[in-house]
Amino acid sequence: MKALIVIDYTVDFVVGKLPCGQPAIDIEDRIAELTELFAGRGDLTVMAVDLHQEDDVLHPEYKLFPPHNLWGTEGRRLYGKLEAAYDNHRDNIYWMDKTRYSAFAGTDLELQLRMRGIDELHLVGVCTDICVLHTAVDAYNKGYKIVVHGDAVASFNPAGHEWALQHFRGTLGAEVAIGQGGGDDE
Ligand code: ZN
Repeated sequence: MKALIVIDYTVDFVVGKLPCGQPAIDIEDRIAELTELFAGRGDLTVMAVDLHQEDDVLHPEYKLFPPHNLWGTEGRRLYGKLEAAYDNHRDNIYWMDKTRYSAFAGTDLELQLRMRGIDELHLVGVCTDICVLHTAVDAYNKGYKIVVHGDAVASFNPAGHEWALQHFRGTLGAEVAIGQGGGDDE
């Protein structure tokens, strides 16, 4: 069983408070397409979405990044076509707030996956070398098979993006897929 994890593809991370910019805009169609594909055929699809509170001085990101994905703001909305894909398939999509880079940190993601017998995770979203990377590292340590969709991840940092793709392949044993839907017939 497989699941699609869509990481931090929100307004703030694409064009807002902490933007990846053009590389993230360029994957809009592909992220929406994969969401339609996975959720449409009944595979669990998770929207793993960063959540911060204003003036949260104890949070480790407080000193590292400008405020982003604040509770109740437009910046936390899913970006572009992903919002419609989400609305189309809410029955198969699990919205999951997270407060750290990894989608596993402090969330019930592993419980949600285990109770469905899911052992293969397909990762998309931003940033390749931060939240996607940290989620992939946790998935590796927990023993999941990992597929990172190379045409549906992006970063503000081109060198970091390329390094992370290499790390997924060479160190985490992940498949970096391009133009695949993750179906059993592929
Ligand atoms: Zn954050």
